Amino acid sequence: MLQYNSKQKIIAQTINSDTSLSQWRDWKWQLRHTVRSVESFEKLLGVQFDHDEKSTLIKTLSKFPLSITPYYLSLIDTDDYKNDPIYKQSFPVISETLITDHEMKDPLAEDKDSPVKGVTHRYPDRVLLQVSNTCAMYCRHCTRKRKVGDMDSIPCTEEISLGIDYIRKTPVVRDVLLSGGDPLLLSDENIDWILTELHNIPHVEIVRIGTRIPVVLPYRITDSLIDVLKKHPPLWINTHFNHPKELTSSSKEAVRKLADAGIPLGNQTVLLAGINDCPEIIKKLVHQLVKNRIRPYYLYQCDLSEGLDHFRTPVGKGVEIMERLIGHTSGFAVPTYVIDAPGGGGKIRVMPQYLISWSTNKVILRNYEGVITSYTEPTDYDSITCDRNCDTCKLNTELDDASEYKAIGIEKLLLDWDKTVSLIPEDNERISRRENEH
Ligand SMILES: *Cc1c(COP(=O)(O)O)cnc(C)c1O
Ligand code: SF4
Repeated sequence: MLQYNSKQKIIAQTINSDTSLSQWRDWKWQLRHTVRSVESFEKLLGVQFDHDEKSTLIKTLSKFPLSITPYYLSLIDTDDYKNDPIYKQSFPVISETLITDHEMKDPLAEDKDSPVKGVTHRYPDRVLLQVSNTCAMYCRHCTRKRKVGDMDSIPCTEEISLGIDYIRKTPVVRDVLLSGGDPLLLSDENIDWILTELHNIPHVEIVRIGTRIPVVLPYRITDSLIDVLKKHPPLWINTHFNHPKELTSSSKEAVRKLADAGIPLGNQTVLLAGINDCPEIIKKLVHQLVKNRIRPYYLYQCDLSEGLDHFRTPVGKGVEIMERLIGHTSGFAVPTYVIDAPGGGGKIRVMPQYLISWSTNKVILRNYEGVITSYTEPTDYDSITCDRNCDTCKLNTELDDASEYKAIGIEKLLLDWDKTVSLIPEDNERISRRENEH
């Protein structure tokens, strides 16, 4: 039998003296009582900021709103709240208002790669569809601060319909990522409608949902929501746990329901200074995740969005964390460390180096222990020239889409049938001189 813990009971009863446990566990009750001001934060947690601090804090809220569910608030350690990872993710600091030269409103150029409002079509075969712009809790480290919480950019049904129309008439899209804001804040009916529409598009093979709901509002994972989600396989869900402290009995229960419904679960963590920038914390987090059937997917380097400078770590911190995970723990507990390219190049994987040297017949590798080893290349590997005709190599004669395949980027340099010899930046002076000479 699930119960309040004592902190939850105090918060629930400070909100309303006769709040029942079933109200506390009702996601709509939680949303109605999200903490949106410094004053109510003080009152509910029984803490007090000094006067100057309070007025600077209030200033930050005009840039990006405050919203914390009573549930998430209850995870804060009151005695040492300023060092608490939950507090730091949900409560502003004055440095949020400092915008450094290299920070950008839209660092990932999501708006530029947008064929219709709400759709970001960056990669060849998949799109991101923003179906909501609200979240149960506003993460101070949110990369989409420019949109999230902005009342003027709430996607309406028509807008989502236009996004779905774009996907319908774009046959290369085989993977649709529902994002926001938080898609799981939509009603069950709306989620059902979106998933039904997408599943009726023959070329859409998979749909995934990116959500922080299991972390900040686990009570939203109701049996009726599960019934909706279950209706639309293959559906993948990626959640957003950043710290082991977030895996509470309530969030584990939410995750268990999703996993029991047969939904594969992944997790995306943002590397955040002062919150989880420690190999020990990340290791504990990934262990907790796999124990709860969530596969760590990405570890993100914090983006160059405005007001996030105080959250950013050097890239070396991420590489160090990867070094201390790879080989040291279960392979499937190790996320992929990525930097989302400023300007919209997409996610770039960053790893420690394992391939340390090379000759024509051997590669030299090192393992996590520092053991250096050599791997001998095969002596009689027949390198087949690929003309995309599949008759010579006989590997697969049924690649029916092969003739439509269009090579992209570095891949072109590797292909036998593509004549590209080098990739040259658009503004290469040497090449423009050549062109001018003719
Ligand atoms: C992250 C992202 C995706 C999905 O990328 P995966 O590496 O396949 O998870 C798709 N579109 C956009 C715009 C993204 O930012
Ligand atoms: S849940 Fe995601 S979109 Fe919402 S505030 Fe947090 S990081 Fe931003």
